[in-house]
Amino acid sequence: MTFQIPREEGLALRQKYLDAARRVVVKVGSALLTSQEGIDRTALANIAETVFALCESGREVILVSSGAVAAGKQRLGGMGQNIGLKEKQAAAAVGQSSLMRSYEDTFNRYDKKVAQILLTHSDFAKRDRYLNVRNTIFTLLSWNVLPVINENDTVSVQELRFGDNDTLGAMVTNLIEADIFVCLTDVDGLYSGNPATDPEAQLVCSVARVDKAVEKMAGNVVGALGTGGMRSKILAAKMASARGVCSFIGSGRTPGILQKLFAGEPVGSFFLPQEEKMQSRKHWIAYTLRPKGSIVLDDGACRAVVKNGKSLLPSGIVAVQGKFSIGDPVQCLDGKGKSIASGLVNYSSAAIAKIKGVQTSEIEKALGYKDSDEVIHRDNLVLL
Ligand code: GLU
Repeated sequence: MTFQIPREEGLALRQKYLDAARRVVVKVGSALLTSQEGIDRTALANIAETVFALCESGREVILVSSGAVAAGKQRLGGMGQNIGLKEKQAAAAVGQSSLMRSYEDTFNRYDKKVAQILLTHSDFAKRDRYLNVRNTIFTLLSWNVLPVINENDTVSVQELRFGDNDTLGAMVTNLIEADIFVCLTDVDGLYSGNPATDPEAQLVCSVARVDKAVEKMAGNVVGALGTGGMRSKILAAKMASARGVCSFIGSGRTPGILQKLFAGEPVGSFFLPQEEKMQSRKHWIAYTLRPKGSIVLDDGACRAVVKNGKSLLPSGIVAVQGKFSIGDPVQCLDGKGKSIASGLVNYSSAAIAKIKGVQTSEIEKALGYKDSDEVIHRDNLVLL
């Protein structure tokens, strides 16, 4: 298995990153924080203890916490059962206040102040909002206040949702340029098989890169209380790794998990950062923006884009799907419908429909004007 690093080598490597990590994002899942009775105060106290100890070690800590929907459902009793999106959004409104009250009560024991930040996907896609969130978090950290972040479930429309807090956690990691993304859940980490059914299944200690084999290992099992399951944690680790940041997945039920991790104990699964760090702008195109449509490429254009790092010209386009404007993000598909790249277009979907298959020298004739030779310039194109 190529992605796995031999245990001792992996542990030595992870220690190097852990020793250097000053700013840490800790994501805590619903499965960990809530039980049949609502917010699990004991579980929350354990998390608070380990998070506080990490703050005391001189590191900056930012918490991303789920649990609003689960806590709200419990509080609503019968009304909160078997509910759809609309009711989940309402349940989050009920549960978020309980969640924050629990955090506040628990961290009060340590005289640690907490602050609630609720974010939507568009807060990351719009530059002014992005910068405002960053500034607020940095100000809170400078005051020694612990930011507790969740998705603003009540205002997030379906197509703009993060989907799960694992993705939100990785995006926050990128937003504040944290050194490590820690994902605490109710399992010990990534297993080579399903530990419930496969006696041979082993905990994977260190992962060099998230490739297809790792994604397959994570399976598609979705947690009962949260939304993500292991797959979304792996994809979040991949997103962080592309920006040169390491990730950790481990059990929040293990007492003092964060101290154990930083002290070098062989807990959980560690994901090393990609050596060649993706530029911030390209990472934003690939992981933050949501495609507004697709462009289908012929084989020659796929080769030029993927193998030779070229821009996308109109001559290699066979079809355009969806409605989008100049500057919008789109995905590039090969002939089989597989997504090969994402990029920002220089022409609208209507204009591309007119110039597809056309040589660059003929753009003006086909369209009546020419803004650019390329439909997507390679500086705005990210291979997937
Ligand atoms: N934002 C949701 C909540 O607080 C959780 C989403 C998730 O579990 O990933 O309930």
